[in-house]
Amino acid sequence: MSERVKFYPGREIDSKVFSSGEVFLTNYATDLKYSWASGIAISHYLIELKKGKIIARKCNECERILVPPRMFCEDCFRDTDAWIYVKDTGTVNTYSIAHVGTDASRLKEPLYVAVINIDGASQGMGFLHLIGEIQSEKQIKIGMKVEAVWKPESERTGSILDIKYFRPLE
Ligand SMILES: [Zn+2]
Repeated sequence: MSERVKFYPGREIDSKVFSSGEVFLTNYATDLKYSWASGIAISHYLIELKKGKIIARKCNECERILVPPRMFCEDCFRDTDAWIYVKDTGTVNTYSIAHVGTDASRLKEPLYVAVINIDGASQGMGFLHLIGEIQSEKQIKIGMKVEAVWKPESERTGSILDIKYFRPLE
């Protein structure tokens, strides 16, 4: 309301008009679907994960190898140049030990979550994933070498979870 607007046109309604039948009310369960484009770089990355491979992009200007791949080098401010496979091994950059699940309940066994620098990519390039086959909290260390444990090919869907976890590489 304002000085010039003293009332809104129409009629205010409340729950009584619904129960009286004065106003029509219906329930409708929607069947909405959506699609989400992953983009050129991540689409290619996910397709390769389904094949059991990790693919990156190389920038010929700074010579960095970027994983997860991107089509644009944020350092050089130009398009990246080539697809390049990297290894499915890496080094723990940092990690966290989770004792509480996503529903805030206490976990029987802790989850080990790490940022893993992937071998063959530039320093600091990698991604977050689970570390498995850990016997005790003292075993996980920054700088430890790890390798991917892949799902069987028939169970892969083109997801980062096609890698079940990374395990210590002895
Ligand atoms: Zn670059």
